[in-house]
Amino acid sequence: MTEQEQKALEQKEREQVDHDFMQLALEQGQLAYDAGEVPVGAVVVQNGRVIGRGYNQPITSLDPSAHAEVVALRDAAKNIGNYRLTGATLYVTVEPCTMCTGLLVHSRIDRLVYGATEPKAGVVESAMCLLDSSFFNHKIETRSGVLAEQASMLMSKFFKMRREGKKKLKQLGAKGS
Ligand code: ZN
Repeated sequence: MTEQEQKALEQKEREQVDHDFMQLALEQGQLAYDAGEVPVGAVVVQNGRVIGRGYNQPITSLDPSAHAEVVALRDAAKNIGNYRLTGATLYVTVEPCTMCTGLLVHSRIDRLVYGATEPKAGVVESAMCLLDSSFFNHKIETRSGVLAEQASMLMSKFFKMRREGKKKLKQLGAKGS
């Protein structure tokens, strides 16, 4: 095998690994969906092993910081007994917000992989490129678009359901008055 073929093979294997772990993040997103929360899920992986899991849950846990990334990184740090997650990769179904992007730097993870972009609040490539800021002294490798379609489908399904729910409530209210 030539060096080029070897590299291509490694790249392909890596893509498959990212795909598999993102599938687990999507399962976490489904748990958020089932709880009536905006469906975002995340997992943290270190040395090929899942060390943290989390899904978005600010409403049910009465915690404005309980985004999927925060929950998963806290879980990971507790599980390995270290607040620094060196060598770890965070998989999240949707592009992170400002709070979570800041936390990624604080946690010292190596790599961020996400699915769908978030045009309004995503700050890795959409609203801005926060990780490229010169004031951050820790660099994170990023990859986006992994199972993006599944992630955005879950989001649209959720918002559609919520809109229909509100419409129904309005109709009921109109009938009642
Ligand atoms: Zn966030």
